[in-house]
This record gives sequence, structure tokens and C-alpha cells, in this order.
Amino acid sequence: MPEATRDDPAVRFCALCGAALLRQERQGALRPCCPACDHVHFFDPKVAAAAWIEEDGRLLLVRRAVMPQRGLWTIPGGYVDAWEDPASAVLRECAEELGVAVELTGLLDIVAGREHPRGAGFVIFYSARLCTRNLQPADDVDQVGWFGAHELPVLAFEATRSMTARWQAALGAQKPA
Ligand SMILES: [Zn+2]
Repeated sequence: MPEATRDDPAVRFCALCGAALLRQERQGALRPCCPACDHVHFFDPKVAAAAWIEEDGRLLLVRRAVMPQRGLWTIPGGYVDAWEDPASAVLRECAEELGVAVELTGLLDIVAGREHPRGAGFVIFYSARLCTRNLQPADDVDQVGWFGAHELPVLAFEATRSMTARWQAALGAQKPA
């Protein structure tokens, strides 16, 4: 028997020939299959990428000006377009949201877990630094701020919360007993 089925009922018609799709078992799961041309629809994850920019013990956060989670804070980033390098996506999103260029300095982690129906399947976190300092929030961001590990505002997404929790834990571990 297939494992627990994860489906999107909006996928109803074959992308190749337009016939109505049937759910049939293929490669261990029930998947939308085309009875006319045998095309199988595979659900792929949406990918997001984000920039962890830390200076003097403070983290750069942006306040979301759009839904979902408008008014809450997160780190600069966004969805990776199809055929786009995730590193390029972070540079693009930072230019859009912060109005400045950034330089990526490393790869921190990949955090999996879709948080809402149109959310990312996983988020790629890069460490980064600002190339210039004249921040100008724009695009889907209305404010930019620097926050210490223990003075964080309300964060928009669980993936970011898991990274900041790790940051807090690492700082706590550095304190003398
Ligand atoms: Zn078809």
C-alpha cells in the first residue's frame, strides 16, 4: 500500500494533454496520472532562500508588508524561481527588500517543513554581509532593524524561529557558568 498520500486537489487536469487526471499508485504513492497520455504529475517542493546577516551580535530583520504574516519579522529572502540558483535568489531578494547588495559568506543550514498551503517546502539559509550600509526597505518589506538574540520581535516563520533558537542556545552556551 502507498504511504500516507499528500495531494493537492487543485491538480485536476493533465498539463500535457488536458485530460482529467486519476489518482493511481505510482512509485509508492497515489499520484495524479493521466489516463490519456500516461503522464504522471509529481509534486515538487517550493524552495525559499534567506540571508542571515549578523553584525556585532545583532541580526538584521525585515518587517513583512504583505500577507501572509504581514507586520511580523523575518530575515531577508524569498522564493527561488525555477531554474534560478538559490544563491542568486538571495542576492536578488536582498537587493529588492533592502535596497543594497550583499555578499554571501557561507551556507548555514536547510530547514524543512511547509508552514502554510503556499509556503516553501524548505528554506536554505546563507550567512551574508552587507556591501553598503544605506538600507532602504522596499518591495514586500516596510521596515528594517537590527536585533540582539534576546530582544527579537515576533517572528513570522517557524524556520526562522528554529534558526534564532539555535543562535540563542549557542550564545547561552558561551556564557560562563
Ligand atoms: Zn495527458
